[in-house]
Formats: sequence, C-alpha cells, structure tokens
Amino acid sequence: MNYILFDLEWNQCPHGPEYENPRIPFEIIEIGAVKLNDRFKIIDEYNSIIKPRVYKTLHHHIRQMLNYDESVLKTGRPFEVVCKEFKKWCGDDYIFGTWGTSDITQLQKNMEYYYMQTTEEPMRYYDIQAIFGEAYPDPGPCRLEKAVETLSIPQNECFHTAINDARYTAYVLQKLSKRNFKDQYTYDYYHAPVDEEHEIHSYHRNYAEHISHGFDDKIYLIEDENFGEFRCYKCKRKLNRKIDWFSNNQNQYLGVGRCWYHGYQKGTIKFKLSNKGQTFAVKRIAPIPKSEVETIRNRKLELREKRREKRRNH
Ligand SMILES: [Zn+2]
Repeated sequence: MNYILFDLEWNQCPHGPEYENPRIPFEIIEIGAVKLNDRFKIIDEYNSIIKPRVYKTLHHHIRQMLNYDESVLKTGRPFEVVCKEFKKWCGDDYIFGTWGTSDITQLQKNMEYYYMQTTEEPMRYYDIQAIFGEAYPDPGPCRLEKAVETLSIPQNECFHTAINDARYTAYVLQKLSKRNFKDQYTYDYYHAPVDEEHEIHSYHRNYAEHISHGFDDKIYLIEDENFGEFRCYKCKRKLNRKIDWFSNNQNQYLGVGRCWYHGYQKGTIKFKLSNKGQTFAVKRIAPIPKSEVETIRNRKLELREKRREKRRNH
C-alpha cells in the first residue's frame, strides 16, 4: 500500500464572509502530493494549479501568505479536471496522510460543490500532525514548520506552496516511520456512517473509537441504546462504571469506567454534524491514571452545583 501525502491551498471570499458562497467557503486553488511506497520511499509527485471559479480574486491574507498572484491562477485548470487527474494518479491501493484535519474536509467539500462523487462515509487517513504530536507532546497542535525544525529536516524550500508542504509532510512521516505509527490512523468526520451496520469501531494501542450513524436529532441519539455502551479499549469487556456519563458541555459527555485487567478509562462522547445536517457521536475510550478520576468527579460535582445555583436564582 502506498502513502499519499497531500496538501491543498485555498482561497476564500475576498469581500468578507457575509458575501461567501456557503456551499464552498474555501475554494481550492492548488493540489500538491507526494507518493511514498510501503517502505516510505518517495516514488512520485503531483502538483496542479486550479483556476478558481467562485472567488476569482485572492483574499488579501491568502495573497500575502501564499505569495500568489492572480496571473498564476489564470494558468490553472478547472477543479473537476484536476481532481479527476489527481484521483487517477493516486491509484487503487493507498491511504491519505495530511498535516492536520482540514485538507480532507475541504477536498470533499469542493468535490461536493461540483457534484463529484465522494466516499459517502468517514474516510480513514493519517493525520501526521496528530502522530507527530503524540511523539513530541506539546500543549497545542504543532505547525509544520516547527515539526520540520524539531526533526532537523533541511529547509531548502519555502513553506505554503502545496507541493512543498506535501514534501515536508512526507519527510516528517519518513522520520516518524520508525515509531510504528500504523495503528494511529484516524477518520474524517465529514460524512456520518450511513446506518448502524456501517458504524465504525476502531481499536488503537492507546484508545478505542466508535463512530455512530447519523440521527436527525441529538435526542434520538442520546436515547439510542448503543450510545452509552462503555467497553474496555483493549479487551472490549463491559467496564465497571465509576462515574456515569454526564454532560460536560453542549457538545460533550464524559464518563469513567474500570476494567479489572486494564485499569481506569475515560469515555468521551462528542457530537458532530455531518454534511447532511445529521448529528452523530464519536465516542473515545482511553486509559487514564487514577488521579484523573478525581478531577473528572470534581468536574461533575462542580457542574451539578452550578445547575442547582441557577435553579435557585430563577
Ligand atoms: Zn480490559
């Protein structure tokens, strides 16, 4: 299987968000990609400029950051042509890798704008930024420039052109390849699984993830019997509930359970909105130290107290 590291550059409405086309807030203007074989050797490259059709002049931030000017974009080809060519170049046996999560989403959003067929379900890919973050923990997400510097990769090319960023992402992956990252794949949440049968259960060395199918309303999702199921990330046995699920904020539930063999585990349920406007849940179960159990318990008590106070004041 090949790895395809790709990077996109996009433009946005030059006259401000109130004039943007909501179906395509970010219009792709360049695709750059590097193909690695299963031994992480670079075997091919792809690069194309896309002629914009929605926002024909560049937003000033984009022009500044990318050092592009409109004359370059005029040399581009239509999105559908480039996208089809890119897909063909990818071949049949590959997995995508990108720096961060947004390129996968924007590619699908642009494809959908032109009524091109997308996968219709969450796509499995490698988020190289997240894999790097796990190897070199930092409080926030790391910029590609910093990762390149951290790994002492020579900086011979400028950043912020699609092909150069794709190359740098490939070099980062080559350096990380010694760390056995293969089970650290992730899914993009642009599409929700279509039905219960297509729901995704994935098991990784340090967490398990369950992606539910889409529901028309959050309330149906919460009432679904699979929603609160709480199983060990390693052995899949039902966990002994230590802290029952509670709503940590509008978009997130938390809970704690314990496996006799694999210790304390935190459950996080996050609600996501699919491209079709349905709500679905991403549930993650991951091991935690005992000290974190107390922190979560205190959080639950604190929220309960706040709610009581609110009621008293009304
Ligand atoms: Zn277990």
